[in-house]
Amino acid sequence: MDTKQITYDFKCLFKIRVIISLSLFVLMVAPAGAQEMDILIKNGHVFDPKNNIDSVMDIAVANGKIIQVAADIKTENAKKVIDATGLFVCPGLIDIHTHVFVGSKSDKFADGNNSLSPDDFTFRAGITTVVDAGTSGWRNFPLLKKQVIDESRTRILAFINIVSMGMTGDDAQENLAEMDAQKTAQIIREYSDYIVGVKIGHYKGESWIPFGNALKAGELTDKPLFVECHLPQYTLEDQLARMRPGDIITHSFENVSEREPVVDKDNKVLPVVLKASEKGVLFDVGHGGSGFWFNQAVPAFKQGFWPYSFGTDMHKFSVNRGMKDMLNLMSKFLSMGMPLKEVLLRGSWNPARAIKREDLGNLSVGAVADIAVLRVREGKFGFVDARDNRIEGDQRLEAELTIRAGKIAWDLNGISARKYEQN
Ligand SMILES: [Zn+2]
Repeated sequence: MDTKQITYDFKCLFKIRVIISLSLFVLMVAPAGAQEMDILIKNGHVFDPKNNIDSVMDIAVANGKIIQVAADIKTENAKKVIDATGLFVCPGLIDIHTHVFVGSKSDKFADGNNSLSPDDFTFRAGITTVVDAGTSGWRNFPLLKKQVIDESRTRILAFINIVSMGMTGDDAQENLAEMDAQKTAQIIREYSDYIVGVKIGHYKGESWIPFGNALKAGELTDKPLFVECHLPQYTLEDQLARMRPGDIITHSFENVSEREPVVDKDNKVLPVVLKASEKGVLFDVGHGGSGFWFNQAVPAFKQGFWPYSFGTDMHKFSVNRGMKDMLNLMSKFLSMGMPLKEVLLRGSWNPARAIKREDLGNLSVGAVADIAVLRVREGKFGFVDARDNRIEGDQRLEAELTIRAGKIAWDLNGISARKYEQN
């Protein structure tokens, strides 16, 4: 090769490099507005704690993902423009305590029979992800996957019950031979995209083996333990002492005979509860039919003991009683005096962190477009606990629009629809 040829090659190479660099530069600085957008949500107050965004912004969605979050994105390349003026644009809500698995008729699903079909209650409450709280175990999780996960628009995740058949509601739940840490760990590994932790609960015996085995399965897979503590034989102190930082306890504000309350007779938060909270144990609400009492929640709240997440314990009974839905539960804390930002944080980003799914619960560019557009309604409202006690409030959260994986899944007032005009 002569010198001329080398010089020519070098020049050519240089040109190619300049072209590549220029193209990259154009790609980097070109507004995503130039890209085709499926949905553009304009003028909403974006609240995204993961990315420290708390201001009026626009959000562009394409191919199921968030492609841009910025002030004043141009509308010309948007297929659909939604005006969210006066509304809060948040990550889709995550309910970490639900029951959505019915099982097969041959199983005796005493508790599973109280399960709900997730899409029927999620989107209308701004929820895009639910976690089934141990309705299935390692033997029947594949059925849950087939029956519910694969058939729902809602993203379904699960805490796997340490009992092999999950919540059967009968003696099977007491059989220690059916509480195998290794087999539970194995199913978690096999379905690691869906199983986010291990559930212990509803055991009536004296042994600590179930609790220990559930913890072991969690340790083997680096997953949190989810404690649904209908465990009269275990003291609250003993449970909390065994739990690791990041483990989750639900029904935090229950006050029934089988569960020790978190505040004492003088309405003071118990030192063991504060100690566990400092250690990093996460307290979920788990309202359900009997898991939420104002005489626990209000004094605890006043003393600064706040829940980490708003798991609803959604099932057939709680849905038509004081609990109603996740936004109603969040509105209760709003009425108790929790600032709106703290309430919203506990509806999406906190639960995402609790289940170690930090890809969810945020509005990062590139994240799946699971979005809740919420309205804070002003008026006179009443909120009821699990024992028909009522408090009043002047604000209520309402889901105006819910987007799941870039598709509109709920639109209360048709803000994404065309205006009807008679010809
Ligand atoms: Zn439950």
